[in-house]
Formats: sequence, structure tokens, C-alpha cells
Amino acid sequence: MILISACLCGIRCKYNQEDNAHPVFVTLLKEGKALPVCPEQLGGLPTPRVASEILNGTGNDVLNRHAEVITREGQTVTKEFILGAEEALKIAQITGMKKAVLKSRSPSCGVNRIYDGTFQSKIISGDGVAAALLRKNGIEVISDQEFLQEKGETIQ
Ligand code: SF4
Repeated sequence: MILISACLCGIRCKYNQEDNAHPVFVTLLKEGKALPVCPEQLGGLPTPRVASEILNGTGNDVLNRHAEVITREGQTVTKEFILGAEEALKIAQITGMKKAVLKSRSPSCGVNRIYDGTFQSKIISGDGVAAALLRKNGIEVISDQEFLQEKGETIQ
């Protein structure tokens, strides 16, 4: 069983109430091999919601209170992002999850690469808040794209 960003499994939990479904992840869910979580919903944010990015830092910086998560409209949602990361970690720990496959570039789920906080689709190195917390706690995190590449699947 793998912890997976819920939007990859077809759950419409994205900020715009859409999903990032890929047949590989939907199949894992159907087969009972995926546990879908959405850290942003777990943190109490509504769907739909205003898109957010991490300003001046990475998920680790947010966890260390050295950076904030802000919406495109300038509202601070750091507290919700940290709570959502903690709840995702709680689910992973309760269920004994060792691995998570998370959606690329998200301020919560992004693995190794995230948007830079300017809302101009610019990418920087670093994890999202939930990815950083899971990694810190010994859970292997890989991006959806890495997972699909390993399986020889097409990235949509
Ligand atoms: Fe998908 Fe993660 Fe964003 Fe939720 S927080 S919509 S699971 S990328």
C-alpha cells in the first residue's frame, strides 16, 4: 500500500475542484493498493479554493517557520498547510505507510521541485510542506512523474 496524492487517483480535490487523474494511480486505488490523501483539504481548506504557493522558501522552511504559504490573493494559509501535512503524516503513521507518491510542483505535495511563490509558473528546488514532513519522518517520497517513469508509463 502506498500513500498517494488524492488528486492523482481522480479525487476532485484540486484548488479548482478538478483532479490530476492518471490511469496508473486510479488502478492502484481500485486494487486497494493506494491510500489517497489531500493535505490541503486535511488542513481545513475549502474546495474550490484560491491557489497557493510558498513564498521565499520551501516546505522545510515553512515547517521551520522561516517561510509562509500565501494564496494568489495574498492571504496567509501557512497554518492550514502545516496542519494538513501533520494530518497526512498521522494517516501514514497509523497505517504504517513506508512510501508516498505525491503530485509534482504542489506547495503541499511537490517533491524536489515546487513553484517559487511568484505565481508565474517558475520552478525552484525543494519539497512542498507535506512532502517535507513525510520525508523528515522517514517516509520515502517520490513524485508522480518519477513513479510513472520507473514504470515506463506515459506522463500526461
Ligand atoms: Fe493534490 Fe496534494 Fe494538491 Fe491535494 S494538496 S490537490 S492531493 S497536489
